[in-house]
Amino acid sequence: MAKRGISILKDIEASTVIDLLNRAYCDEWLAYYQYFIEAKVIKGLMKDAVIAELTLHAADELRHATLISTRIIQLGGTPILHPGDWLKHSNCGYDAPENPDVRSILDQAIKGEQCAITTYSNILDIIRTKDIVTYDLVSQILADEVEHEEDLQSLFDDLKEFMEQFKL
Ligand code: FE
Ligand code: FE
Ligand code: MG
Repeated sequence: MAKRGISILKDIEASTVIDLLNRAYCDEWLAYYQYFIEAKVIKGLMKDAVIAELTLHAADELRHATLISTRIIQLGGTPILHPGDWLKHSNCGYDAPENPDVRSILDQAIKGEQCAITTYSNILDIIRTKDIVTYDLVSQILADEVEHEEDLQSLFDDLKEFMEQFKL
């Protein structure tokens, strides 16, 4: 734990930031697995395009988990050690892709990204000028989540249009 790095926090306890980050850390692992397994079980029209996007997003979520765990350790915390605790501490939970239809999968994944956007936006509201390093990190992650939502929504819209056109 590096003292000077922690001393620059203003009007916020390191433990508060660690708690916020640990919840997000759980979200990222659950999101990683959700998109990973969605890309495996998905069926239906345009599934190859959706698989490509979900696979990229899963890799991004794993990268986010890496970035967040590094910051938790910098702040003197410990990332959640037990996968069994992920659901308990997460903000967004986990949506199992029980229906493999491409529309259902896209709908679930879009909701996941929307929850991530809300979560990171709330974290930024809390830490704003209080922890600049975390603020910068979370801003970068938030920008990825916004891109994820847009990518999936545009696939969903294309699919809908295609189905309407051919009255499927
Ligand atoms: Fe993420
Ligand atoms: Fe995402
Ligand atoms: Mg993408």
